[in-house]
Amino acid sequence: MSFAAEVRNELARIIPDKECCRKAELHAIFITSGQEFTMPNEEYLLLVKVENAATARKVFQLLKQTYHVQATVEIDNKKRFKKTRRYSISALLDAEQKKELADFKMPLNAKNIINRTWVSKNCCRKAFLRGIFLSRGFISKPESNYHLEIVLNNDELASELVKLFSKFNLHARIVQRKQQLVIYIKESEQIVDFLRIAGASKALLHFENIRILKSMRNTVNRQVNCETANLAKTIEAAVRQIELVEKLSVNEELGSLTAPLNEIAQLRISYPDATLKELGEMLTPPLSKSGVAYHMRRLEKRAREIIGHGRK
Ligand SMILES: [Zn+2]
Repeated sequence: MSFAAEVRNELARIIPDKECCRKAELHAIFITSGQEFTMPNEEYLLLVKVENAATARKVFQLLKQTYHVQATVEIDNKKRFKKTRRYSISALLDAEQKKELADFKMPLNAKNIINRTWVSKNCCRKAFLRGIFLSRGFISKPESNYHLEIVLNNDELASELVKLFSKFNLHARIVQRKQQLVIYIKESEQIVDFLRIAGASKALLHFENIRILKSMRNTVNRQVNCETANLAKTIEAAVRQIELVEKLSVNEELGSLTAPLNEIAQLRISYPDATLKELGEMLTPPLSKSGVAYHMRRLEKRAREIIGHGRK
């Protein structure tokens, strides 16, 4: 199962205790996935289409529990070539039921699409965000990249939603993709916050585990890179030192060096792989790593002088 489906299934199983929250969540699903048709005999057809079975069950249950509306759930078989299945939840409402549900769906061209009645309390805002994700949300698996998005087709709704996100300190951005508007979050911390707010605690745990693993792997990689860089530097220095000593040897200048430079020069040639610390231990008397480094610098300086002089 994809991580997005994992999150959706978890969120779909949450049935809020409070009526205000149940209404807020239904409102979110209706304004993004719902339609309303006027039928003969003063009846109205309410239609909600979602892509997830658990979400369909949730809409059915919320309608029944909150408004005593008996809906029907059907699998949409018309679009057989589409990869994703769609579920239709439909209900015939009489005039009275329609009045009760009137606050839910507003014409989509109206200003303030999100009815403030349903998002005035913090508990309801959380439920609303959960409904929005169930209806239009997508999240990448944390193993790949950090990405959460809400796909909408109404710019007024998009900007209202960004404002609602910001009430939870979630800084979502909007981007146009083909005919649609996408609200997205890329920061892993913010995605964690969103999952927490929406109530997806199991998915959150999974996300956090992967995030910790990834950050540990990055730290190890950084350390390995750092060690490799140090090793490369050591080898580079050894090669340079050996070249200088060999030039001295060719020019028969090794004998002109004083202790301990002559001994360090001999050891450098004999043990090309040895570190400065190891060279220091072989000297009589032994020298510390920094001691060898000091003399090595002197040796290099002296060698350049001699060689430079010899060439004149
Ligand atoms: Zn509430």
